[in-house]
Amino acid sequence: MKRWISFLLAFSFLCLAGCGAPTVGDVGTSGQIFAMDTVMNLTLFGERAESALESARTEITRLEQLLSRTREESQISMLNAHAGDGVEISVESDLAGLLAFAKSVHQALPGCFDITIAPVMDAWGFTKDAYRVPGEEELAELLELVNSEDLLVDEQASTARLARSGMELDLGALAKGFAAGRVQAAIQAEGITCAMLDLGGNITALGSKEDGSPWRVAVKNPQDTGTYVGVLSLTDATASTSGGYERYFEEDGVRYHHIIDPKTGAPAQSGLLSVSVISPDPLLADALSTALFVAGEEEALDYWRQSEDFELVLCTQDNRVVVTQGLEESFRFDGEELGYTYEIARR
Ligand code: ADP
Ligand code: MG
Repeated sequence: MKRWISFLLAFSFLCLAGCGAPTVGDVGTSGQIFAMDTVMNLTLFGERAESALESARTEITRLEQLLSRTREESQISMLNAHAGDGVEISVESDLAGLLAFAKSVHQALPGCFDITIAPVMDAWGFTKDAYRVPGEEELAELLELVNSEDLLVDEQASTARLARSGMELDLGALAKGFAAGRVQAAIQAEGITCAMLDLGGNITALGSKEDGSPWRVAVKNPQDTGTYVGVLSLTDATASTSGGYERYFEEDGVRYHHIIDPKTGAPAQSGLLSVSVISPDPLLADALSTALFVAGEEEALDYWRQSEDFELVLCTQDNRVVVTQGLEESFRFDGEELGYTYEIARR
């Protein structure tokens, strides 16, 4: 039953309750896109929904070609191929801005977020689904190559380069959030004011509260993703979730997931099962959900206390759901029967 409800919560009847523009019964125009290694579901409302959906598709395809490191012709692949050879690579201004943003998250949360993590991701086999557990020495050697300070970005000139040979970029932690922001802008430019964009765990709710009823988005139970720990009410905001349950493999009874602690080179063990970041900025939400998952509860809440532009839902290993104060009115806790307790973190 809960499984069914959570599906509904994510996709259908919530869409009906969303914005002022559509009338009840308007199911919107939906499309599914497979890109960035994930399934994306877009639902748009309004007269121009059909053509805006096409624009969204075009934009997602463009961004995948720009940001993927497995496509040889992408600008990221160019940067990776020229690591250490001193050549400045001209990149789209979009990409230069994104790289600079990634560096700023690295600096704001030292040891938690690093888009030069690629060599370590490869060693664990996450890039090619050829999973293995690397040895400590191997990881220590690879970690020498991981440092965003050696990613040099000139936003003015729109160029970038990696300072040392062997370094590689992986934008997996923020590519979908970046895409969500660009898709949002593209469909808004076509006059769409009401939409639900689900880019593989990054859910962007576009719409006003004209009829008083916001979109509702379920926060999955990281220990059983067919159930959910609560429901968020969202208006013009993105909820981005990172969790160890999203991608992992098991070896000798140990589970290894895809969010790496750049301090150790191993899957982050921060005491958190999942982090959802809720923000008007989809890029910030995506980047921070990954970074704060590595940071752990205490540092995540400290960082939240210094910031204004996001709120958090944390699911902890010891079965607590911790929600930041700004969501007090817009989060409904449903995790009690799943064995979770509920806490509100205050400033
Ligand atoms: P998902 O891609 O499953 O939605 P995330 O947004 O949390 O989840 O991104 C995880 C991806 O980010 C990994 O697959 C990898 O490409 C990259 N990554 C892993 N650890 C880090 C890290 N500490 N800093 C930056 N990027 C990371
Ligand atoms: Mg992320």
